[in-house]
Amino acid sequence: MKPAEFAYHRPDSVEEALGLLGELEEAKVLGGGQSLLPILNMRLAAPAHLIDITGIRALRRFEEDDSGVRYGAVTTHMMIEDGLVPDPARGLLPHAAAGIGYRAVRNRGTIAGSLAHSDSSAEWPTVLSALDAAVHVRSNRGDRRIPVRELLLGFFTTALAEDELITAVEVPRLREGTRWGMVKMARKPGEFAESLAITLVRPGETEIWLGAARDVPVRLAETETVLAGSIGPIALEQLAEAIGADTGSSGYERQRHAVAVRRALETARGETVRGAEVHV
Ligand SMILES: Cc1cc2nc3c(=O)[nH]c(=O)nc-3n(C[C@H](O)[C@H](O)[C@H](O)COP(=O)(O)OP(=O)(O)OC[C@H]3O[C@@H](n4cnc5c(N)ncnc54)[C@H](O)[C@@H]3O)c2cc1C
Repeated sequence: MKPAEFAYHRPDSVEEALGLLGELEEAKVLGGGQSLLPILNMRLAAPAHLIDITGIRALRRFEEDDSGVRYGAVTTHMMIEDGLVPDPARGLLPHAAAGIGYRAVRNRGTIAGSLAHSDSSAEWPTVLSALDAAVHVRSNRGDRRIPVRELLLGFFTTALAEDELITAVEVPRLREGTRWGMVKMARKPGEFAESLAITLVRPGETEIWLGAARDVPVRLAETETVLAGSIGPIALEQLAEAIGADTGSSGYERQRHAVAVRRALETARGETVRGAEVHV
């Protein structure tokens, strides 16, 4: 299908984009278009105006300091995968980026677009929740900084107002001594995750995040408590029970999440290869 008719705008500056967002009725920001354009093609949305922000050079820059990296909103998955921008998480960001869809999707899709879309089976919502990243947002009413954990409110629902633009994504440096594990389970390469487990293991503490289990990424607090209280390897069934309590999932789904989490724990502890993509 083809989208309903819309007017296309391609501003050169953030100010111009904000002006358009503020003054036009039924306007949508267009990033890489990898989620929005299929939605328009299926006529699930029909905005009157699209404001393409990919021509704004200021949104393509990055800044790095001791605390981490701040990526311009239109930084693509490919730029992170190929190391064209720094990675403050010792390999986790390029690993996550490389698992997103296909190369053609990664060439155009942007980090801010993925967060604004808020699909919990996508990579960036879970990875950037685990890393406690934040977005910088602007509108004609001013600027604000929103932690990713507070930005994502549900499936396709965020804390962004209609006239707000994500201008940058700030990712803190992974704390010294922290090892990560990431396991994506998908039906085949190029597909969204069915289970997406991220583990951050540091002396005396294990943090576990799971995507594709609920409408937003979930920190598995009950599972972390069970792990902290266990001596030696934990049985898969016990892990599955704890994950069920954290996510409300059951049966095969809960079992699949448990396998993803266990493998992510093993990779973080160095018991197997670093990060993995598994097809189920
Ligand atoms: C075949 C296919 C497979 C895919 N597989 C995966 C996968 O395995 N994992 C995965 O994570 N993703 C996957 N994706 C989605 C892809 O990663 C998208 O790039 C991403 O979800 C959206 O980013 P975008 O820049 O394309 O945003 P767009 O599609 O342009 O926009 C998405 C939404 O975000 C809003 N938006 C965009 N930028 C901003 C901004 N700066 N400020 C405020 N709002 C903004 C738009 O208005 C829209 O509502 C896949 C897509 C396709 C087509």
